[in-house]
Amino acid sequence: MNETDVVIIGAGHNGLTCAAYLAMAGLRVQVVERRKVVGGAAVTEEFHPGFRNSVAAYTVSLLNPKVVSDLRLAEHGLRIVERRAQNFLPSPDGSYLLTGEGRTRDSVAKLSTRDAAHIDVFSRELEVIADVLRQFVLRAPPNLVEGFGTRSITEAFNALGTANILRRLTLEQQRSLLDLFTRSAGEMLDERFENDLVKALFGFDAIVGNYASPYAAGSAYVMLHHAFGEVNGKKGVWGHAIGGMGAITQAMAQAARGHGAEIETDAGVREVIVENDRAAGVILDDGRAIRARYVASNVNPKLLYTQLVPQDALTPEFLQRITRWRNGSGTFRMNVALNALPSFTALPGAGDHLTAGIIIAPDLGYMDRAWLDARAHGWSREPIVEVLIPSTLDSSLAPEGQHVASLFCQHVAPELPDGKSWDDHREEVADLMIATVDNYAPGFASSVIGRQILSPLDLERQFGLLGGDIFHGALTLNQLFSARPMLGHADYRGPLKGLYHCGSGAHPGGGVTGAPGHNAAQAILADHRALFTAR
Ligand SMILES: Cc1cc2nc3c(=O)[nH]c(=O)nc-3n(C[C@H](O)[C@H](O)[C@H](O)COP(=O)(O)OP(=O)(O)OC[C@H]3O[C@@H](n4cnc5c(N)ncnc54)[C@H](O)[C@@H]3O)c2cc1C
Repeated sequence: MNETDVVIIGAGHNGLTCAAYLAMAGLRVQVVERRKVVGGAAVTEEFHPGFRNSVAAYTVSLLNPKVVSDLRLAEHGLRIVERRAQNFLPSPDGSYLLTGEGRTRDSVAKLSTRDAAHIDVFSRELEVIADVLRQFVLRAPPNLVEGFGTRSITEAFNALGTANILRRLTLEQQRSLLDLFTRSAGEMLDERFENDLVKALFGFDAIVGNYASPYAAGSAYVMLHHAFGEVNGKKGVWGHAIGGMGAITQAMAQAARGHGAEIETDAGVREVIVENDRAAGVILDDGRAIRARYVASNVNPKLLYTQLVPQDALTPEFLQRITRWRNGSGTFRMNVALNALPSFTALPGAGDHLTAGIIIAPDLGYMDRAWLDARAHGWSREPIVEVLIPSTLDSSLAPEGQHVASLFCQHVAPELPDGKSWDDHREEVADLMIATVDNYAPGFASSVIGRQILSPLDLERQFGLLGGDIFHGALTLNQLFSARPMLGHADYRGPLKGLYHCGSGAHPGGGVTGAPGHNAAQAILADHRALFTAR
């Protein structure tokens, strides 16, 4: 039997971040990962002979700059480059929108002079509130605790600190914040803009990983969630990690190992050991036990509590609530090997637009219908697809002259209706996704020489993402901030002593941020220090 200070379940980027901070502080850390590779949803894999890609998460912006610098990821080989254009939205009528530094306003003006006058104002409104979110990303949200004691005093100070950040906003900015946390993106965009592509540009961010209509209340928050990132100091920008998303997690693993953390792959956890109401280690699938003072979980909270923690260690109330944790981001993911770059009818030939996130969802009504169709039918027959061709920025991913593309497809049901299985419909839906791109870029389908398909069920099987949920749980108001993963447990501490949440199911939620891993490490270190001060 092994013994260590901290055992971390899962080597996703958050588990690795948590491991690095804890090891840096001098704790003995052991990370155990079910897959053969580290990285969780942030990995680069060869999906077709000679073609590598970021097979799940595919683009970077939310990765926290403090994590990048504390873990010295650049020294461990991480290099992030900006896309030459941010987004390209072709329309079936032949018009298009192309955004990016120095281009957005002109491109919008070609579609609507009224919208060109408004876009900077709206972008600034988003930016101000995104700045507020940035201040909350690396701090635990105020946690609700019962009774009066040291914890309630600490939490009162935390709530005060949070309130102080909000108090710095003007009344008008506070109104904006309320809108962005509670309203639908669709309503807000209809009020501000007239052109469909301009609305779709923002509306797409509201439905990414959000199995909902852009007119669903709360979708504006998801739009905001995708705006708090930055690349190389440029706010709101999306970029590419050279070598794919796996380069981020390889650098994190190197950082953690460099500080002494041990990382074992092919080492799934079967059960969390609970003794005297305290997490005391884990039992691996092969029967080995690792005892530890602290157990940190990088996996989806519902997976942790319904599959790994013995049910009799939890109260029925806790168990009932976590069983209702809402998963299912409506995501279908493909990686394709291409023998040629696509040529879009709206903007034929090569160009910077092929380095952009290419959004096939020309208006908010299209996104709304996609959601309704998926609910009734299991997938939308006019699906939303984002195409990203990272090999236009990174020649290491494909043989010379050839390319790889990520197809990030939105609005498929996490579970198909009428007892149908994704295993029986995966290929048919993959054909539909490729045909959808082909409608806008004729010849695309015949350029596909290899493909990898990840239905929601495949995402669950391969990455442990329940319901294929890319964020470890929906970003709805009842699952955010102090309620992530549950009121009373927003401080990264679970219901058992010694058990912590360090994955995307904790604040600030999904995306390759490193923030939950960073924050959980701070909670563990605080408890560790308190333990030794008390002695
Ligand atoms: C298809 C897809 C596209 C996405 N696109 C983007 C994007 O472009 N940009 C972005 O910022 N975010 C994106 N996301 C979201 C982002 O990737 C995730 O929110 C983030 O990677 C989650 O990181 P994590 O470390 O919290 O968890 P994970 O990456 O899920 O890691 C959890 C780890 O735990 C392991 N595990 C599970 N069960 C066990 C067990 N029993 N024992 C041991 N280990 C176990 C898993 O194998 C996994 O390695 C995407 C996600 C997906 C799935």
